[in-house]
Order: sequence, then C-alpha cells, then structure tokens
Amino acid sequence: MKSKVVLLHCPTYEGSKVENALTRGLDLLGGPSALFRKGEKILLKPNLLYGQNPQRCVTTHPAVFERVIRILQEQGLVLSFGDSPGYGKLTVTAKKAELAQVAEQYQIPLADFDSAQWKDVQLGPRTIQIPLAVGSLEADGIVSLPKMKTHGLTRITGAVKNQLGCVPGFHKAEFHVRFPNTDSFASLLVQINLLLKPRLYIMDGIMAMEGEGPGSGDPVPMECLLLSQDPVALDATFCRLIDLDPRFVPTIQAGERLGLGTAQEDKIELLGDPLERLKRPSFKVKRSPPVQDVTFRPLYPIRNLLLPQPRIDPESCKRCGICVEACPVSGKALSFSNGKTNPPVYDYSACIRCFCCHEMCPHRAIHIHTPWLGQQVIRFLGRGRSVTKEG
Ligand code: SF4
Ligand code: SF4
Repeated sequence: MKSKVVLLHCPTYEGSKVENALTRGLDLLGGPSALFRKGEKILLKPNLLYGQNPQRCVTTHPAVFERVIRILQEQGLVLSFGDSPGYGKLTVTAKKAELAQVAEQYQIPLADFDSAQWKDVQLGPRTIQIPLAVGSLEADGIVSLPKMKTHGLTRITGAVKNQLGCVPGFHKAEFHVRFPNTDSFASLLVQINLLLKPRLYIMDGIMAMEGEGPGSGDPVPMECLLLSQDPVALDATFCRLIDLDPRFVPTIQAGERLGLGTAQEDKIELLGDPLERLKRPSFKVKRSPPVQDVTFRPLYPIRNLLLPQPRIDPESCKRCGICVEACPVSGKALSFSNGKTNPPVYDYSACIRCFCCHEMCPHRAIHIHTPWLGQQVIRFLGRGRSVTKEG
C-alpha cells in the first residue's frame, strides 16, 4: 500500500484559507473520522525551538495551530499541546511564538513536558533508554505540527525531527553527546517516532525558512501545507519541492532503513495540488551529503580541516551566552575567555559538530563554515548522486 501525502497550495496565513486547505487535506486522507475517534485525548506538538516572533519562521505559525485546533475540537477531541524548547521555559517560548495566546483562547492546556518516562529501544546492537515527556505518552494520539525549515546537521528539519521535542529538557543535548554521529542521531530520531507513533503530521510550509535554519535562516514563501501519516514520505516530498536529493537527509535514510516510512516516489501517492506548481528549486539548502565525524584514526589529526565548523560573527554577537549554555559537551566546546567583553571562543578539537549553538543563537551570529578540504570531500562524496547545486 502506498503512503499518502497531501500537498496543498495555501498562499497566506489568513485563517479561512488555512482552514479550508486543512479541511480539504483531511478529507483527502479519508476525513477526520478515519483518523480520530470522538473523545480521544490528542496532543498537538508544534515546533517551538525557541520563542520568536512568528514572522521569523522559527516556530509553527499560530494561524496553523489555531485552525488545527478548531477542526479537531469540532470532532469532539480533547486537546493539549506541548514541546520542549531548546532553551527557555515552555510557557515563555509559547507566548513569544504566539501559540500560548491561541491555546488560552481555545482552552487548550499545556501537557506535562517536564517529567519523563524512560522507554527501551533497540539502536543497532544496543538497547538504550529514551526519556519521553509524560504529556506525549499520556495522550491517545499525537498530531505533529512541524515547520518547514533547513538544518545544519540533517539538511532539513521536518516531520521526523519534530518529535525530538518530546524528549524533555537537557536530555536532548545529552543525546547529541551520546550519538555524535549523524546517522546514529538520525536513527535515534526515527526510534522516537516509532515509539510515539504520531497519528498525523501537518507541516507548516506557508512561509518556510531557507539558508541557515533552523534558527538563523531567512523566511521564504513556499505557500503550502503538507499532511501525511508517513513522516518519511512527507519529508521526502518537502525535499522534492526544493530540489534536494532525499538521500542527503539522514532522517529520511534512517526512516526508510528502520521501517518508519518510505521516500520512494513510486511508493508515495501524492494528493492535492501538483508538486510542479509549488516547486522552488532556488530554495537555499545544502545540497550535499552531511559530513560524518571523523572516526578513522589516521585522519584524526586533520579532523578540523575536514569537518564543518560553527563560527561566530563578532559584529552580530550580543554576548548573551545562550550558545555556551546550549553546548552539550562536558566542560563546553565554546566559552567566554575574558568575561563577556568578547564573543565566546571555540575549542574545535572538543566540538562534536552537533550545531546546537548555531541552532540556538537568537541573534543569527553563528554561521557554519566548511573548510576547503572538507568541501573537496563533500564534492567527492556527492559524485554519482544528483547534486544539482551547492546551497
Ligand atoms: S553567538 Fe549568539 S548565542 Fe552566542 S553569545 Fe553571541 S549572540 Fe549569544
Ligand atoms: S560548540 Fe556548538 S557545535 Fe560544537 S559541540 Fe558545542 S554546541 Fe555543538
């Protein structure tokens, strides 16, 4: 059976347009009654990376959040919402992103995203324990509301990656240290989806973020919403919209490998509006395979000449220290060397290239730079794949 993905043209966040598109999308998936039963407890999981004005496109837009609420409440569902932001309290983050105000209007409570229950999963030969927010486990089902954005580590942050926010607080950072390899981290994200099994994924791509996402990129109109029960197929469709080879996205590769979904075009039934009409090949994204950390011992001395590295633009840095706080490495791989008179300084030999600092900098002061040698390796690895242009 093919995975269904619904692609809908929606040019603005005007409430009625968003609601019409969502209603049409749900109908194309068989209607709400095929997905939910009256009285079920459903958790809404938006992307609340950190609190930002919705115009910055860091978070799921409040108009999408509101219209999803209206439609689901009409079905008699009991809603809650939650996420574990990269930094800051959920209440504050949700307010800055203007979701808290919508939730208050529709009397949607915050789910418990502070306490965790540990679940066993098999990751390769190892059994590991994953802490999941109690609020995500208490619900009968989850509706995941990812934002269409780029990502330094996984190329895109989409449907699969959105569930990382169901891991409470500092545990997320801890996982970056335990799984520094991009592929193993992607497998972890897939396992979280397999554990939580969101009922439905609705991606807000009306305004997306291109370039240096997920926090420092630029808003770009993609004018679409994507709906699916298969997050891998949804993310692969996002890739096709922006002319990105899905094989460059580790969460898609791991998702296929571990049976979460499919990225194969012939196994996806695309419904709704034609993809060709909504394609944006000029979308700024890295169109190359992500570089894995160098574990091959003989190459270790030149690791810093190969791996992409985060760099701080001293002109834009406001010395807030959020990047230092976000760094998951014990002892920190970046720190202030002279009070806060200068920007933090990196220790690249300790840096595991998780890019949490880049992700969390609210002032767009951190950029990812790939050294010349690393660029040659990426070009070599990209040969034979459909690398159409460098992002
Ligand atoms: S780089 Fe960004 S997060 Fe770090 S101190 Fe400067 S402004 Fe703050
Ligand atoms: S310095 Fe930045 S990229 Fe390096 S480990 Fe710390 S947060 Fe991750």
